[in-house]
Amino acid sequence: MLNKFIPYGRQAIDQADIEYVINVLQSDWLTQGPSVSKFEDAVAKYCGARYAVAVSNGTAALHLAALAAGFGAGDEVITSPITFVASANCILYAGAQPVFADIDPDNYCIDPIQIESRLSEFSKGVIPVHFAGHPCDMGAISKIARENQLIVIEDAAHAIGASYTIDGKRYRVGSCSHSDMSIFSFHPVKHITTGEGGVVTTNCKDLYEKLLMLRSHGITRDPRLLKRNEGPWYYEMQTFGFNYRITDLQCALGISQLRKLDRFVQRRRDIVKQYNSNFSNDPRFIVPHENQNVFSSYHLYVLRFRSPLRLEIFDYLRQQGVGVNVHYIPVHFHPYYEKNFGDHRGEYPVAEAYYENVVTIPLFPGMTNSDVDYVISKVRTAADMFA
Ligand SMILES: *Cc1c(COP(=O)(O)O)cnc(C)c1O
Repeated sequence: MLNKFIPYGRQAIDQADIEYVINVLQSDWLTQGPSVSKFEDAVAKYCGARYAVAVSNGTAALHLAALAAGFGAGDEVITSPITFVASANCILYAGAQPVFADIDPDNYCIDPIQIESRLSEFSKGVIPVHFAGHPCDMGAISKIARENQLIVIEDAAHAIGASYTIDGKRYRVGSCSHSDMSIFSFHPVKHITTGEGGVVTTNCKDLYEKLLMLRSHGITRDPRLLKRNEGPWYYEMQTFGFNYRITDLQCALGISQLRKLDRFVQRRRDIVKQYNSNFSNDPRFIVPHENQNVFSSYHLYVLRFRSPLRLEIFDYLRQQGVGVNVHYIPVHFHPYYEKNFGDHRGEYPVAEAYYENVVTIPLFPGMTNSDVDYVISKVRTAADMFA
């Protein structure tokens, strides 16, 4: 048995994180206390957005954003086929129809030209996914959205800490400078963690108030929003919402983690540099591409092998304790999607070719230099054997 196993991603928790959480445990509020709004303020400030609403996970964030956007029966919403299923499922939660648009062959994000080719009279929104931390072309996407009255929700689950530059001005992902809302996930494999958790950011007050209400059963106590007021006990359920609240315990962890985000991203980028310097001049590999005008926060390191033997490569690396993965199986390949929306194989050639030969190799800030060297040497051996 190998005693070494390096996962593709994992959290980095230190003593400061532990102390933040212990402080909440010893306070009056385990949930619905002051840490939630402190975390929301910190995330909004970090991104440069006016508002942030913290929720129980990234999928809940997507669900609420889709509802706040007003997606519903008869609407089509365009997203990427190369993403975690939640990016598309949230469209179904709202009763709308997901429509996929193929990806850019270089950065694996949704291709704006493909978005245009999928527009119809029913198009209501677009959910670009900043794949692996690389920001989508938000200039082009926001232009298409403006011209076609689409609502844009950025799935930034991979991309807190990333930014992009348009006309010389730098924007952080999550600032919603070119969208209506953005969502983050704080699952332990993501850049920072709250165990489970998510956030929606927006600059729109109306969306913000909808999100707050939807997060907590559709209920409000805000005197400015009440239809009537029957006394100090009074609250109203005005819309059909959920309990998607996050706890103070989780938000305390989030506050502490956020302080380290830029350091985590820098460490990720240093590891990416080492991987690239080993793999980029070798014709057996295709390394991740970073556009000139973006700063990727590198959630994942996706390596493509110019070899049909991905299964052999994958098995070998797993046997050697390298926790490889595949991100992602195209959403339209999943049986649920095939059964309910028909067989669309062949319609997304870039995404489907991508899926054939990609392997995600370990990337997380807690990797030691010797972990990185180990992964590099095992990947090289895998290529010698199978590529
Ligand atoms: C992780 C992830 C989500 C969902 O986040 P959870 O917090 O796990 O619910 C959504 N979209 C993408 C692209 C993700 O990677």
